[in-house]
Amino acid sequence: MYCDTQLFIDGQWRPAATGATLDIENPATETVIGHVAKACETDLEQAVTAASTAFKTWKARSPLERAKIMRRAAELLRERVERIAELMTQEQGKPLAQSRAELLGAAETIDWFAGEAQRGYGQVIPARADDVQQLAIKHPVGVVAAFTPWNFPVNQVVRKLSAALATGCTIIVKGPEETPASPAELVRAFSDAGVPAGVINLVYGVPAEVSEYLVPHPGVAKISFTGSTPVGKHLASLAGQHMKRATMELGGHAPVLIFDDADLDAAAKEMAQAKFRNAGQVCIAPTRFLVQASVYEAFLDKFVAEVRALVQGNGMSEGVTIGPMVHARARDNVAAFVEDAVERGATVLAGGARGDGAGYFFQPTVLKDVPTDARAWSEEPFGPVALFNRFETYDEAVAEANRLPFGLAAYAYARDHRTVSNLTRDIESGMLTINHNGIGLQETPFGGIKESGYGTEGGSEAIESYLETRYVSQGAR
Ligand code: NAD
Repeated sequence: MYCDTQLFIDGQWRPAATGATLDIENPATETVIGHVAKACETDLEQAVTAASTAFKTWKARSPLERAKIMRRAAELLRERVERIAELMTQEQGKPLAQSRAELLGAAETIDWFAGEAQRGYGQVIPARADDVQQLAIKHPVGVVAAFTPWNFPVNQVVRKLSAALATGCTIIVKGPEETPASPAELVRAFSDAGVPAGVINLVYGVPAEVSEYLVPHPGVAKISFTGSTPVGKHLASLAGQHMKRATMELGGHAPVLIFDDADLDAAAKEMAQAKFRNAGQVCIAPTRFLVQASVYEAFLDKFVAEVRALVQGNGMSEGVTIGPMVHARARDNVAAFVEDAVERGATVLAGGARGDGAGYFFQPTVLKDVPTDARAWSEEPFGPVALFNRFETYDEAVAEANRLPFGLAAYAYARDHRTVSNLTRDIESGMLTINHNGIGLQETPFGGIKESGYGTEGGSEAIESYLETRYVSQGAR
């Protein structure tokens, strides 16, 4: 059922020039299920050449034409959801329902950016003389190099790909080596929809080698990276040295503020679902739960009841709601975070251990009274662990929420209008959702502040970083 993945360069699926491949494992079984081609410099150079050549003609296509091709790709993706969802679950581990949802969301993203293709508006600026016309015109920046991780194998690619194609850019995607087959099927949908050769190129390899080659390459105009903050800082500085535009979607450590007047039932349900989606391997996952002291125990009871209702197992099985982690390293990192927190005095209310048998499972875990010196309280666990502590006052909660250098996502539940309005002013986060879970739509901004990065991959600003503004002043003579 699973298939090997090749490179896609200049409209052709083909092996690496060296023939080298990497193994793909099913994280639920620890078995090797396939291989992915591992690009070398020859392949990367061909990808840059193809993308540079294709840019000359793709940018000249009308936005309406580009949008039509993109909408056709979205249709094909919808038609192929079942098959691609199975590939995704086998390589990534998430339950099939979550794979399907990711793919349907990706189709919506393509449609939304297809609409944006037609809205790359410039400006006519009133001139100081009657016979002068002043124009600010938007142009696509050129070839984009995109680096995407394994947690949402398709969703992480589709935002960058759709923004690039909509604006007339061409792209080289360095896809996730752990989960290559499902993003390859996304690219196939675009290719089958009529995207010309060279507009999209897909490579896999050793991430550091690929970025060291592509980021400084004079043929590449823009970098877009999603991944950890340390790698993001490295790539941002490399991009800076070569004066390349960059968008950085990096790590987070999302606080969840539960005030004593909140709807605790709704909060427990929505936050448990958000916390354990994709086994917690989500950059916007709720992480530090700060609960007002008078409702601390009551909220914990409700949250733990939600966690006990989760069904962990192989994502291909009916009824499973939480799968394994992506690889042994991720699972062992989480285990170390939990051990450290418990050693320092945290109490385990649910889970707390690796799963039995094969697969990189870690039980959905709830830790109460996590000491502030526990590593997990400050470093991103990126796994199925909810950390709890209590607060007394609004100021105390906000100070803790803003303490870390991250600023990606934040969640809050409160009914008092003044609390709600103050939170919108005080929480230092690129995204804040209050009294429901409303983050991650294609039509709204998606991005971080502080060390969580810069740029947005959603909303009307998303295409801006794929466009450059050129000013033209025309006199009458
Ligand atoms: P990692 O830091 O090794 O890699 C994260 C991602 O960056 C991977 O996709 C990897 O292929 C890529 N990468 C690593 N070094 C690179 C380089 N020099 N050039 C280009 N790409 C490079 O970590 P990991 O073990 O794969 O994931 C764990 C951490 O990564 C998490 O703690 C989390 O902070 C972060 N992460 C974030 C997201 C997100 O959605 N923001 C997604 C996946 C991982």
